[in-house]
Amino acid sequence: MATTRAWHLSSRPVGLPTADNFELKEAPLPDLEEGMVRVRNEWLSVDPYMRSRMNDVKSYVPSFQLGEPMEGGAVGKVVESRSPHLEEGETVFHMLGWREEAAGPAGQFNKVPPIPVEDHQWLGNLGLTGATAYFGLLRVAQAKEGDTVFVSAAAGAVGSAAVQIAKAKGMTVIGSAGGEEKCAWVRELGADCAIDYKAQPVVKGLMEAAPKGIDVYFDNVGGEHLDAAFAAARNNARFAICGMIDNYNAGPPPAFRYIMRVIAARIAMKGFIYTDFLPEIGDFYRDMRGWIASGQIKSRETVRDGIEAMPEAFLDLFRGANMGKMLVKL
Ligand code: NAP
Repeated sequence: MATTRAWHLSSRPVGLPTADNFELKEAPLPDLEEGMVRVRNEWLSVDPYMRSRMNDVKSYVPSFQLGEPMEGGAVGKVVESRSPHLEEGETVFHMLGWREEAAGPAGQFNKVPPIPVEDHQWLGNLGLTGATAYFGLLRVAQAKEGDTVFVSAAAGAVGSAAVQIAKAKGMTVIGSAGGEEKCAWVRELGADCAIDYKAQPVVKGLMEAAPKGIDVYFDNVGGEHLDAAFAAARNNARFAICGMIDNYNAGPPPAFRYIMRVIAARIAMKGFIYTDFLPEIGDFYRDMRGWIASGQIKSRETVRDGIEAMPEAFLDLFRGANMGKMLVKL
């Protein structure tokens, strides 16, 4: 039986994962039966949500199993096909990442839509992170022209897309990020103001940046960022709760100082998962294609080389070592 090198979950982390939680070893590739394809992965995605898949808990995506290969977003080329739906040489995106090769029914692999972009963008601005920004901002938070929008983790993959979409739609944007270099890039993306949350309390920075308050908060961080957004919310503010990376390793925050603003300011908060909006993915491709073509939305990647780099690339998300989308190139 053919095999491929794949990262396996070797133990479950407590707090921040370490290299010991992962093991790179051969995994079997299923024999190619009628209707199946084999794909050589070229780009692998690491994403913060994978941290919760390392825990043994029920969630919206199944946990990784101990001793089994891990999964995640990937882009690759079909190298062998026994399906009429996919030809050898075609580029596909799929969820059998964390490994060099993948094989399975053709239905597990998606042809990339006919939009002229580099392949890795199907994991970034035209993939999960771009779509999350688009639907979170425009559908969940109902953000519109003239709104003042606060985006946390604004120099990351989802955040940088959210900042640029908000600017393309005529909003005033405040972003937060860790460090002056990241903040300078957030301003380059068009943000009207960037808060370095490592240099000052985020609530102080936000109050100064938005003296009249915010209409929308796009939350990637939770914790003190969410508390600051409570404090700064205008009446009828809308919060799209996308992620809470501050809590993924540390657990939930002990308390929110300003949470009672939810009542006084009539804040509407809604969590979402980007797959909720897959039936509307055509709208996203149409708009994002236009923004990329016009130069209104730019992408940036932090790229690590080789399958060996996967665990460190993943852990670097929690250390803030990425600007834009973190990817591993095989
Ligand atoms: P990312 O922002 O590209 O990378 C993570 C960034 O988070 C880091 O670069 C770091 O930037 C920041 N960070 C890490 N620990 C932090 C902390 N304790 N406090 C504040 N900032 C911290 O990752 P992404 O893929 O775009 O994901 C962003 C968020 O969206 C995550 O919470 C993720 O779980 C969520 N998400 C949700 C969905 C959904 O469907 N709901 C889909 C995709 C992603 P700094 O250097 O600026 O701290």
